[in-house]
Amino acid sequence: MSLDDDALEYHGDDPPGKIEIRTTKSTTTQRDLSLAYSPGVAAPCREIDENPADAYQYTAKGNLVGVVSNGSAVLGLGDIGAQASKPVMEGKGVLFKRFADIDVFDIELDHDDPDAFVESVAGMGPTFGGINLEDIAAPDCFRIEERLRERMDIPVFHDDQHGTAIISGAALLNAVEIAEKDLEDLHVTFAGAGAAALATARFFVSLGVRKANVTMVDIDGILTTERAEAGDLDPYSREFARDVPEGDLADAMVGADVFVGLSVGGIVDAEMVRSMADDPILFSMANPDPEIDYETAKNARDDTVIMATGRSDYPNQVNNVLGFPFIFRGALDVRAAEINEEMKVAAAEAIAGLAKQDVPDAVRKAYGDQPLQFGPEYIIPKPLDPRVLFEVAPAVARAAMDSGAARVDIDPETYVEALEA
Ligand code: NAP
Ligand code: MG
Repeated sequence: MSLDDDALEYHGDDPPGKIEIRTTKSTTTQRDLSLAYSPGVAAPCREIDENPADAYQYTAKGNLVGVVSNGSAVLGLGDIGAQASKPVMEGKGVLFKRFADIDVFDIELDHDDPDAFVESVAGMGPTFGGINLEDIAAPDCFRIEERLRERMDIPVFHDDQHGTAIISGAALLNAVEIAEKDLEDLHVTFAGAGAAALATARFFVSLGVRKANVTMVDIDGILTTERAEAGDLDPYSREFARDVPEGDLADAMVGADVFVGLSVGGIVDAEMVRSMADDPILFSMANPDPEIDYETAKNARDDTVIMATGRSDYPNQVNNVLGFPFIFRGALDVRAAEINEEMKVAAAEAIAGLAKQDVPDAVRKAYGDQPLQFGPEYIIPKPLDPRVLFEVAPAVARAAMDSGAARVDIDPETYVEALEA
């Protein structure tokens, strides 16, 4: 049977889909039911009416994330619409639950108009502890997230942007260390100027890359100030327009220390890799086929090529599941009002730090006894490494407290113990 057949059977087996809702309190007696619902339920309602923060104490809000999409940029499938995106959003819920024990309501909204989408989601704050926006096409995704962050008092996080940025940011921190380069001297070339590329470029700047050293290339070539002035760039990609002559991706890669591919497969060749600076770093993340495949990049030259992709069958998979479950875990546990830059940087540093620790045998076994030792072939932890939870969630919670985003203070040590229990 093919993977497609298996997947249809997996989803189609009774009950259809892959998630359900369960009760967490006893519901066996009449008494139980009169506590769960009328008349007993009025008591927590009155408490919350008096003090809205009590919703975290008496409802599931604090462990509930809304995964919200309009289905306009789903995986590699494109604009398949809200209904067809539901298996993906339910799947995101499965990952939240499996990796961080967070519950999810998946919400697929039939809205092409970004303003209508914003209006629908902005009113959902009372239900959720956080909102994970998912698979919304650029450039609408930027405006939608910006406006919802302004209007809502819970974290609003577009994972396709920031999840990707944080994991590849962690990879960058370690790659730069191994290649013995400095963030502030790096010349970074991006293929793609969409949701993932723009967020990743901004995050690299937060980590210490100089914006003036970032070159971005879309389907029409290098983003130049001339193109910006000609009205050829949207307001978001315009941010990375440079005052340089026009050129294509091959031109932009000459002398670059880092190549970040968040575009389409197969657009980079060995010659372009050879034109890069010494010990080049390539994060070639187009899915399912990277901009350049692993072997071609590694074999293009004799010095050390540090290579990451979005694929699980090669070293250094940039997989968002290393981030979002644990970032939300940490944010929810301090009732954060937002996921701010400090929290994102803390997540990236925690992920990067974990890759330098010895890998437990159980994790090594889960990955077919690969060596998994800090170095060019292991710059980011593996997604099934259970320690990611214990490193990233506390780091995010601490950064939320330090930056003022947290609404409760927790003791970091007891928090780690509670997570490990
Ligand atoms: P997106 O918003 O549609 O952006 C795609 C960008 O690629 C656009 O800026 C597009 O330029 C550009 N592009 C297309 N063909 C190009 C070419 N031949 N040369 C240079 N640029 C080209 O999509 P996205 O959500 O950012 O995702 C982009 C890719 O990254 C996808 O393959 C996705 O699967 C992958 N991705 C991987 C990970 C991961 O590995 N963890 C995470 C996120 C995304 P125009 O706007 O000019 O068309
Ligand atoms: Mg996605």
